[in-house]
Amino acid sequence: MLIMTYLTVPISAKDLDQAQEQIKQAESAGAEMLEFRMDYLEGLNVELAQKLISDYKNTSKKKLPIIVTCRDIRQGGAIDYPIKLRVEVLTTALGAGANYIDFEYDNFLATDRQEKIRLAISKNSRARLILSAHNFQTRFPDISKLFRSISTICPGTIPKLIYTANHINDCFDAFDLLHKTSGERIVFCMGKAGIISRILAKKFGSFVTFVCTEQEQATAPGQIHIDEMKNLYRYDSIKPDTELFGVIANPVAHSMSPAIHNACFADMGMNRLYLPLLVEGQKQQFDIFINAIVLRKWMNFHGFSVTIPHKHNALDYAKEHQGFIDPLVNKIGAVNTLIISMDSKVKAYNTDYTGAMEAISNKLQFTKTDFNDLPVAIVGAGGVSRAIVAGLSDAGAKITVYNRTVEKAQKLAAEFNCEYASLDELANLDAMLLVNCTSIGMHPNVDSSPVEKEYLKRSMAVFDTVYNPAETQLLKDAKAKKAKRIDGVSMFVNQAMVQFKLFTGTDANEKLMRKTVVGQLSH
Ligand code: NAP
Repeated sequence: MLIMTYLTVPISAKDLDQAQEQIKQAESAGAEMLEFRMDYLEGLNVELAQKLISDYKNTSKKKLPIIVTCRDIRQGGAIDYPIKLRVEVLTTALGAGANYIDFEYDNFLATDRQEKIRLAISKNSRARLILSAHNFQTRFPDISKLFRSISTICPGTIPKLIYTANHINDCFDAFDLLHKTSGERIVFCMGKAGIISRILAKKFGSFVTFVCTEQEQATAPGQIHIDEMKNLYRYDSIKPDTELFGVIANPVAHSMSPAIHNACFADMGMNRLYLPLLVEGQKQQFDIFINAIVLRKWMNFHGFSVTIPHKHNALDYAKEHQGFIDPLVNKIGAVNTLIISMDSKVKAYNTDYTGAMEAISNKLQFTKTDFNDLPVAIVGAGGVSRAIVAGLSDAGAKITVYNRTVEKAQKLAAEFNCEYASLDELANLDAMLLVNCTSIGMHPNVDSSPVEKEYLKRSMAVFDTVYNPAETQLLKDAKAKKAKRIDGVSMFVNQAMVQFKLFTGTDANEKLMRKTVVGQLSH
């Protein structure tokens, strides 16, 4: 049976006026259900709770289904109201028209409370009881056992099991429980590591997922904004068979990849979703995450963008698990794209090389031969530098690598048979193409530049791989010298275009990708 997942906004108001405002906001933002959190109301009594519910039922045009909750402070409640009052509020709520009441399973175990709740439910045959368990610290020791206990204590109960994910790998308990069980149940994780479980609640059939309309009104850690859920994560188009993709990174919140890939999926009407995947830790945690995905084919993950700090971990994983490794990956020594193939093997690629080379060729209208013997200065000797040095050296350019840590420049130059120098030597710069591969000039240090303006020349093409901001200080200085310029957004979009093709076999809409990146940057 296909379970509807209600996009639910908690109403966490301190008085009735504030509640009306929050309700209006939630309805116009597209909420599908409301949760009246009575424990947030100041001076709570039975009459106040009753008024809030009946006013809503009598005046709202939308008449969304409502859950009434009066949470115990030990399980995330706001104001510490006595249990007797909380039970009275819930039983009264049923009479006033609540569709669901949510009570803590632990508290329900006491016989007297259980009797009152059972009696009230039996008098309101259309209303349902949600019995909830929360663990704000960590995973439940045995989530399946707890689920069974809650499901069987009272017929028709909707079990709700919510716990804090301290790492993305903790979310698999929730996904497995949803996968193994059926019927109405509410299961997801709190905390920033649990965000994907809130988004995927709809794909895996949780009865409810919670979102907020203002970050200050969020009632639990990790609750995301309703607009983000609907617009960025395409909530309305998520289905049980939606194919999944994502960016594996730490940190990940700043990543523009979800915005650009989801915009293109939406543009092409694809049943695909791209997620931010916060994988904290190093190789061990990365391996656990990929193994968990590979083992759970039913999750329907097909590919990943991989970035800091996991580009080498992804390469090690592909090597250790006999995956396919694209020859460019070996040359660059890092992976930025992983594909999970039909036989559950991984395929490793690096799209930075092609992304950068296409950005240069397109802007300068170069064919391959134009790179031959082209004098190029590369500033920086990290991961991006490596991909660009590999690309330009394949094309026959004469490269000098400048770096703060000269030994790193020396090592890179030796591998690709080119020259190296310290940053001081940029004063004698004599190149036709200058590429910044350092993070200098990146937000928030937008006034700094890796190369003094006076060293730039009109005859030089200047490529800054930094894409936030799109126009860096280096590019502004190059513009003042009337030099040709290539921005980091072009490289970013080009590498994402190659990724999109690996993910879907189809070309993405380049203009839309660029517009999305520039739109994100201006926020
Ligand atoms: P990385 O491996 O950490 O390398 C960073 C490089 O920057 C190193 O050469 C480092 O020099 C140098 N550096 C950092 N701070 C410096 C400073 N204050 N003074 C002098 N040199 C400094 O990073 P990465 O992955 O190569 O990324 C580099 C930049 O590329 C990022 O910041 C990002 O803006 C950009 N990027 C662009 C794209 C795109 O698609 N457009 C994609 C990824 C990254 P040392 O060796 O001396 O530490």
